[in-house]
Amino acid sequence: MPHSNQIDLLPNQGWDERILVCRNGRLVQTFIVVTARYVVLVDTLINAATARQMVAFAEPHLAGRTLLVVNTHADYDHAWGNQLFVGPDAAYPAPVIASLRCAAAFAQRETAETLHRMQAAEPAIFGDVRLVPPTLLFDEQLTIDGGDLTLQLFATPGHTPDHISLYIPEIETLLAGDAAELPYPAARTVDGLPLMRASLDALTAFEAQTVLYCHAPVAAGPDLLHDNIAYFDGLERACRAALQRGLPGTLPAGAAHIDRVGCRYADVTPQTELWRDVNPYYHTDGHADQLRMMLTWLDAAQA
Ligand SMILES: [Zn+2]
Repeated sequence: MPHSNQIDLLPNQGWDERILVCRNGRLVQTFIVVTARYVVLVDTLINAATARQMVAFAEPHLAGRTLLVVNTHADYDHAWGNQLFVGPDAAYPAPVIASLRCAAAFAQRETAETLHRMQAAEPAIFGDVRLVPPTLLFDEQLTIDGGDLTLQLFATPGHTPDHISLYIPEIETLLAGDAAELPYPAARTVDGLPLMRASLDALTAFEAQTVLYCHAPVAAGPDLLHDNIAYFDGLERACRAALQRGLPGTLPAGAAHIDRVGCRYADVTPQTELWRDVNPYYHTDGHADQLRMMLTWLDAAQA
């Protein structure tokens, strides 16, 4: 999918007016939370140009308020606009708040390799990106007292080890980031899978009235958390049964092996258009990856 610098502000669809939702095409949604003391940008999008557009949306609210920036995690669609806020040439100097693990992710060789690969593929979008790690770091929890709204930042590892989500108790609103997604938040490692399911449980425990995601329609609502949990519970049931039938705990990569477990995407997701219309990858290789990790995790747990 080619990337774009186009950022749109979504019309409010019932959430608290102090939250603005920005969208970069079909790629990702980010948030601006306007509190009495702070304007908080939640994620910085894919480059300085897109981050600058977020600041433009925030601009009318900045008088008398301090700008703060949050990274939910280090993935490119969430944190590659950081250079706009940090460094001697930063146009809008601000603390960038994230987990300690997020800063560590910026230092990994894979992150630099991803940047080089994407710069080569799409120089117009990524050519100017510099990897700028967050600057104000916490381990498990951090509270931002905005005066009227409180932002509770807390670790929700799994999708990535560094991931955090935000809860705003005064308006019972949860910003899940990528800890929950349509159709499912993908674990990247076998170890990440149980962490991700625990994070999903932690998110549902808030019983939030409003839940907004970085990769799901704004209308998805709190139900998506439960659908994500049901998806992984469905995988677990199918994988347990498959292991009992004698299937080995390690399957080769690829969608061809889904039938050996006997758990297709359609078997463990709601039967609606919303779920059928997702990128085909989630029905095939993506689903196979999650199945494979579940199988390996259960097999290791049983051994
Ligand atoms: Zn993402």
